[in-house]
Amino acid sequence: MHLADKLLEERRARLAAERLLEQKQAELHAANRKLDKHALALSKEIVETRAIVQTVLSENERVKSDLLHANQKIQVAERRLWHSIETIQDGFAVFDADSRLILANKAYLSVFDGLEEVGPGISYVAVLQILTEEGIVDIGEMTPAAWRERMLDRWQSETPEPEVIRLWNGHYIKLIDQRGADGDMVSLALNITETVRHEQRLREARRAAENANRAKSIFLANMSHELRTPMNGIVGMAELLAETELSEEQRLFADTIRSSGEALLVIINQILDFSKIEAGRLELHEEPFDLERCIHELVTLMRMTARDKDISLCVDYDIFLPSRFVGDPGRIRQALTNLLGNAMKFTESGHVVIRVTGMPAEDGERVDLRILVEDTGIGIPPDKIQHIFGEFNQVEGERNRKFEGTGLGLAITRRLIELMGGEIWVESEPDRGSVFGFALSLPAADKLETGAGRIPAGLRRVMIVEPHNINRGILESQLGALGLSTLGTASGAEALACLPGDVDLVLTAHNMPEMDGMELAEAMRSAGIETPVIVLSETPWKIERDPARIHVQAVLNWPLQRSSLFSALQTLEPLFAARPTTPTARVARAGAPVEETDDPFPAMAKGAEPPEDKTIVTPEPSGPRAMRVLAADDNRTNRLVFEKMVKDLDIELHFAENGAEAVELFRKLEPDIVFMDISMPEIDGKEAARQIRALEKSRGGHVPIVAMTAHGLKGDEEDILAAGLDHYLTKPMSKARIVRRIAEAWPGGMDIRPPVPGLQAAS
Ligand code: ADP
Repeated sequence: MHLADKLLEERRARLAAERLLEQKQAELHAANRKLDKHALALSKEIVETRAIVQTVLSENERVKSDLLHANQKIQVAERRLWHSIETIQDGFAVFDADSRLILANKAYLSVFDGLEEVGPGISYVAVLQILTEEGIVDIGEMTPAAWRERMLDRWQSETPEPEVIRLWNGHYIKLIDQRGADGDMVSLALNITETVRHEQRLREARRAAENANRAKSIFLANMSHELRTPMNGIVGMAELLAETELSEEQRLFADTIRSSGEALLVIINQILDFSKIEAGRLELHEEPFDLERCIHELVTLMRMTARDKDISLCVDYDIFLPSRFVGDPGRIRQALTNLLGNAMKFTESGHVVIRVTGMPAEDGERVDLRILVEDTGIGIPPDKIQHIFGEFNQVEGERNRKFEGTGLGLAITRRLIELMGGEIWVESEPDRGSVFGFALSLPAADKLETGAGRIPAGLRRVMIVEPHNINRGILESQLGALGLSTLGTASGAEALACLPGDVDLVLTAHNMPEMDGMELAEAMRSAGIETPVIVLSETPWKIERDPARIHVQAVLNWPLQRSSLFSALQTLEPLFAARPTTPTARVARAGAPVEETDDPFPAMAKGAEPPEDKTIVTPEPSGPRAMRVLAADDNRTNRLVFEKMVKDLDIELHFAENGAEAVELFRKLEPDIVFMDISMPEIDGKEAARQIRALEKSRGGHVPIVAMTAHGLKGDEEDILAAGLDHYLTKPMSKARIVRRIAEAWPGGMDIRPPVPGLQAAS
């Protein structure tokens, strides 16, 4: 090899070595740089890790101290909880899911009186065992095994019912056990001894109060009996005294005795009623009755007062409403009497109206009645309205003070209406007047009857002559509802000015200032006006003696009863018939759609007939003789009162002084009627009646026996009627009621010597 080549080769090798060196140096440099970078990152990481470690360390410290704190708190809470559990008087225990006791407070354990076995770890079954074996629990009639089984069943149920157990020492413990989610059972044993004793005391107190209340009501009933008997003497004698010849002053005295006696009786009856309602002993006696008649009878009773006070007292009885319903007439009358009595008492001028409306109820058999008593009296302040329905409550005030009363009337009325399933309300405005209303739903006694009768053919237009707007308004609306057209005038002179006009009938009030109804009729006839006249009068008997009577076609009682109006119209039909016939009337019954009919009132109310009485067969007269009346009463005054009350009758009166004598005299005398006092010594009225009925069985016939009693309690009437008596009169007896009973039993062919008050109504 040439040197040159060798040199070249060496040079090449040196160059390659130099390049390799350079490269290695560069690599080393790069590696150094990388190492630096890494070292830097590492030291940064070390710093950061150190910081984290530091934080974790301090966090750890904090957690440790928090934990310590929390532990301390838990200990305090546990101590407090336990302290509380120990402090409570009631037992507290916790059992685990295997029914082993975990913990129990002192109260729980105290029942076991220090028995060592009873502590944590004891099973519930063992607890029950100890309770029975040690006689800690009073298990009554049960066997210990049965008792434990029952308690265990209860314990094992999902949600055990609370259970009351009685301990040997008379303490009552109520066990309330509740299962937790993990099967633990928390058991509470509440000592309810005081509550149980308190309840026992309350029960005893209630029983005592009920006994006292019963005793009170019996006492009141007896008292009312005791009071009514002498009242019979007072009221009856005063009534008789007033009929004798007396000076004006003496008459005043007699009347005062009677009216005071009657007022006292009202109070006695109110108190008796109230005590009966209180004791829940008031029961309703439902029967068919005539509501319209009942209202008119009440109005008749109040008429004198209305006349004295110059108050217009009227009845607006829905013309299409039936008269007869099924209900307790006595109680409905009582409610109405209270409301009407108050209306009259608290009204000085103006009017008192009883309005009766009704709608058929949904069942188609009942009628929803609304009865309103409307007055123009002193009214009631709004803040007193609710107060007045309470017991013994009256509106206090100057103006009220002058009115007497017990403050029981409305309380009784409210209770009566509620007892009948109705409701009562009042609307009132001081100085304007009040409207007391009650709603009752009663079955109609006669199916689908309306109270409206037939309007005679030819009657179209009626003139009403009546000075009082309220009365005129009622008549106009009633006749208008029947399809008649009306022409209202306020005086005789006004009527004459319009007559004869196109009027078919004149309906005039009797009592009017200047020209009364009779004078109007007379003036019409003198003027050649022949239109028929019906006079409405509160004193129809006065008209009968009036020479002008020939000018009027009918006289009707005012307030007007619908049945009497319809029957008068029927009687007068020939007088209208000459005229062109009335166009078909449109009849609207309450609640029913308006219907077209040729005979608008096919169902003329039979309701006006009185309810049928028990049929009584009176003995046939055996020849001309006086009627024989036997009266049995052990009280001398009562016998005297009775004697005086029937003195005007042509009868043969015999007295018995006790039940035995009554039976004996009945056998001997064969009376036509017997009046029988109920409470008599030895044989009482009921027993005497039974013996008389037994006698009649062999002898035949049925003589009416009328009970006379001062009793007022429920059940008496049934008892009395069950004993064979036919009627029931409560003392004090009124002359009219006695005479009416005698008249009803009057054997045919005999006459009663006049005057006999009340007899016209009965015969
Ligand atoms: P009283 O026996 O006092 O009349 P009530 O219970 O019947 O007892 O009535 C209670 C009170 O209600 C009455 O004292 C009176 O203040 C008031 N009151 C009742 N009805 C009327 C009425 N129609 N007008 C004004 N106040 C009346």
